[in-house]
Amino acid sequence: MSEQLNIGVLTSGGDAPGMNAVVRAVVRTSLHAGAVPYTIHEGWRGVMEGGDAIVRAGWSDVSSVLGRGGTVIGTARSAEFRERSGRQRAALNLVRRGIDRLVVVGGDGSLTGADTLAREWRDHLTDLLAQGAISSDDAAAHPSLHIAGIVGSIDNDLVGSSMTVGTDSALHRIMDATDAIASTAASHQRTFIVEVMGRRCGYLALTAALGSAADEVFIPELPPEDGWEDAVVAKIRAAHAAGRRDSIIIVAEGCQDRHGTPLTAARIQQAIAERVGEAPRITALGHVQRGGTPSAYDRWMSSALGHTATLEVLAAGPGDDSYIFGTRAEQIVRLPLAEAVANTQAVGTHLERGDYAASLAARGPHFAHKLELFHRLSTPLTDSPARRRRRVAIVHVGGLAPGMNTAARTAVQLGEALGLEMVGVRGGFPGLVDGDIVPLSWRSVDKWGNAGGAALGTRRTVPDTGELFGIARTLEERRIDGLIMIGGLAGYEGILSLAQERLHYPAFNIPMVCIPTSIDNNLPNNDFSIGADTALNTNVEAIDRVKESASASNRCFVVETMGRNCGFLALLSGISTGAEQVYLQETGMSLAQLSDDAASMVASFRGKRSLYLVIRNEQANENLTTDLITRLFEEAGHGLFDARSAVIGHQQQGGEPSPFDRDLAIRLVDAALTDLTGQFRDGTRDARYIGSQDGDIRSYPIRHFDEQMDMATRLPLRQWWLGLRDLLYTLARNTSAEPSLLSLYQR
Ligand code: ADP
Repeated sequence: MSEQLNIGVLTSGGDAPGMNAVVRAVVRTSLHAGAVPYTIHEGWRGVMEGGDAIVRAGWSDVSSVLGRGGTVIGTARSAEFRERSGRQRAALNLVRRGIDRLVVVGGDGSLTGADTLAREWRDHLTDLLAQGAISSDDAAAHPSLHIAGIVGSIDNDLVGSSMTVGTDSALHRIMDATDAIASTAASHQRTFIVEVMGRRCGYLALTAALGSAADEVFIPELPPEDGWEDAVVAKIRAAHAAGRRDSIIIVAEGCQDRHGTPLTAARIQQAIAERVGEAPRITALGHVQRGGTPSAYDRWMSSALGHTATLEVLAAGPGDDSYIFGTRAEQIVRLPLAEAVANTQAVGTHLERGDYAASLAARGPHFAHKLELFHRLSTPLTDSPARRRRRVAIVHVGGLAPGMNTAARTAVQLGEALGLEMVGVRGGFPGLVDGDIVPLSWRSVDKWGNAGGAALGTRRTVPDTGELFGIARTLEERRIDGLIMIGGLAGYEGILSLAQERLHYPAFNIPMVCIPTSIDNNLPNNDFSIGADTALNTNVEAIDRVKESASASNRCFVVETMGRNCGFLALLSGISTGAEQVYLQETGMSLAQLSDDAASMVASFRGKRSLYLVIRNEQANENLTTDLITRLFEEAGHGLFDARSAVIGHQQQGGEPSPFDRDLAIRLVDAALTDLTGQFRDGTRDARYIGSQDGDIRSYPIRHFDEQMDMATRLPLRQWWLGLRDLLYTLARNTSAEPSLLSLYQR
């Protein structure tokens, strides 16, 4: 028997965008680790059929699949696999190929099947040996079946994981649709009911409702109380009274009322029609939610998941359990397979029993809070308060980032709900110097919709000593009690200088909070700043096009991304589009490296390759500019290939915020207002900033922010994503097998 490790990958159950990224990662990580990967076509059916359905996979078999929706190796549902005899056939085919390690991408059904097969494995082998179908050597060589599960499901229903493969792409489809519906609904003053997927899981419905500022949402985990018919009509009327012209109600397909009767879009439609005399329109989004190109997140995170799952399953030894690989914020977590599936399926039992506290709790601590946030945001205040409220000003500072409007709008609508009076500063710190302050209300900011840009305007300038006087005068004259800065590093510096000048200017003795917003993603104690995910998706779309344009010729493309000194956009764009090389300021550039890269280009074009993709961060190196390296590569091409550059410009700062950025903006603003109102209550006057790390949102004193930064490069000391650079090389560079990779990997 050889020591060779054979590993299979299959996709099963419903398809989900991002599955291909997993398949590619499994195949290429296996090749790097010196194992032999097999793609198994049509899910469990393919395992049972064997033959041509189980194919030894090479490096280029998974070329150009990263950006494709669905699953290129097919998926199926199979009743036969639910039977023991079917699973025995599967075991036989796997043993015959020497495959005893599987990465299975599917929903809880597919993973239950995987777990059952792994548990029965020894018994199947004993039976097959007795039948003479396999030899005793075969049985001895494969004492157990090792499974790594990855949940491919747009529903995001795995208990214990923040996201599943496909969910983010589905949210992109849903929010594109709700944005489109909102504009037509507003034109006609109409109410729309949008039905989204989610049999037992309201994640898509709730996240879409928050992100698209819907009027009402119905989710399976918490059926509405009796009398919901009148409540929904009252809510729509209140929003109309506050100036809204369109109404959107989002309903997850699996909803029920408290009596177990399905709560369908048609039922909600009828209830509203009976009460207001006009029937709302229904849009059932259906399979559109599953289709289409995967979002950036579903490419880079699914690549990371496939990579980690493969290394784990290759390192597994006899007696090791099977695991599901999920996510907690940007971290990959390992959950015991059987337990995670059982917890996921238990949600159905909680609902049957009417235990809604348990069904909500299963979704994690953030879910119930998000639901509560939704209700606060979607309920405008009806009566104006008698006493003077605390007045809070919102200001944007720094480069424009998608999501600034969402954050400002959320701050105003949540602030009002908390009893604050909200005003906006037009044009950054200079606006504050000039006293350019406008009143804001639920009604006025509601009109901003989900547009990109910043309705209040933003400026990069940090106030100099002369301007501090003007700012203090404005804060005093306009009786500002608190300040919210939504922006980037210049904003943090500006707020810090106000805080440091408190002795000279008593007006600065007010609570101030910064909210991290920048496409560069370079803010302290914060994993993602608002706007970075949108810019990343813009890049991925642009690079997909660039790649297509090159498909007809032998070409090296050098794509330049923004980010100032920060390589986040460049690296993540590279991983998400399958770039071979990424040049970052953080890791430096050298002539020697360019010469190696040119040699590697020549070698790969001499092979079958027709495109070589290189991404360069705009400030990767002062001298080795995008233009210069493109010319160098053109020179190296020497007729074998040509080289072109594509600079993706300011479109990275524009566009409607992605679902992730809307969600992030709402959660960070919520944390900022919690900090601010806490300070009003306690009588403190701290200047602070909000940061989200590993899914944990906290506020930090601004006076220490520069300790988290290298102020010479204006980069945070902790840049978690730099660790993903090796992933890019493993998945994009076909070097000879490196068994050392596996030995390096620590379980
Ligand atoms: P999903 O994996 O998306 O939840 P299904 O529940 O339809 O989708 O499962 C997909 C396939 O996984 C099924 O057709 C079947 O082959 C297999 N499967 C599902 N549940 C089981 C089970 N309890 N035991 C064995 N195999 C199962």
